Amino acid sequence: MRLRVLASGSGGNASLLWAGDRLVLLDAGLPVTAMTERLLESRVGMKAIDHVIVTHGHLDHSRTAGVIAKRQGATLHAPAEILEHRSLKRAPERRPLGVGVDEVIGEGADALAIKTALVPHDCFPTLALRLEQHGRVLSLLTDCGEPREDLGKALGGAHVLLIEANHDVQLLREGPYPQSLKDRVLGAGGHLSNDQMAIMLRRLLNPHLHTVVLLHLSAKNNRPEIARRVAMEALEQAGRSDVRVLCAEQDRPLEPLDI
Ligand SMILES: [Zn+2]
Ligand SMILES: [Zn+2]
Repeated sequence: MRLRVLASGSGGNASLLWAGDRLVLLDAGLPVTAMTERLLESRVGMKAIDHVIVTHGHLDHSRTAGVIAKRQGATLHAPAEILEHRSLKRAPERRPLGVGVDEVIGEGADALAIKTALVPHDCFPTLALRLEQHGRVLSLLTDCGEPREDLGKALGGAHVLLIEANHDVQLLREGPYPQSLKDRVLGAGGHLSNDQMAIMLRRLLNPHLHTVVLLHLSAKNNRPEIARRVAMEALEQAGRSDVRVLCAEQDRPLEPLDI
């Protein structure tokens, strides 16, 4: 499999996954013009995307999922709770994605296996994803209010891990957000801090892991160099300084990477 993170942050999240001859869009939270530009940049034209998978109903993940699925003739996979939303109803084919289920796209050796797990977040349900094809595994954990042991089990064995590193607690506490928003981000229904990301990273470490991509960095309450340092320190302490750490960006896609 091959992955390209198109964008990540509160302004919109989206990644492309090439799985054999299938192209899967993971979250579609950018506005439609930006999304179209990023797809063209990746040489993805009309009718190229086969499946769109949405982790949860917040707009920075679901905003254009219905439009893109319609334009591309793609099947939309999302929690049943949001499938009836007007914007998602545009998709020509919609499939509910349950919590804690195993789903398979396609069949035979080329099948893409999807496992989901419930993430604590203030949008119910929010799903973490584990995607496996040909023995290669991509795990995606974002918009997670606090580290959970069961998520470590559900997302295990990843070769590439996409994990949220939303904020540095001190920068958030001293930053410009109103207190109510600070409380929300810090709470169990909010987002993973850098230190909480490190806890989950240690739980998800496994011999196959070669790349970690940090997602959803707050422009105001985090810095890529801080998030990266926290991840690299956790890896070094575990004797795994061989694992590559990248930071996803809001304004430009990352280079494609092999899973
Ligand atoms: Zn989000
Ligand atoms: Zn969210």
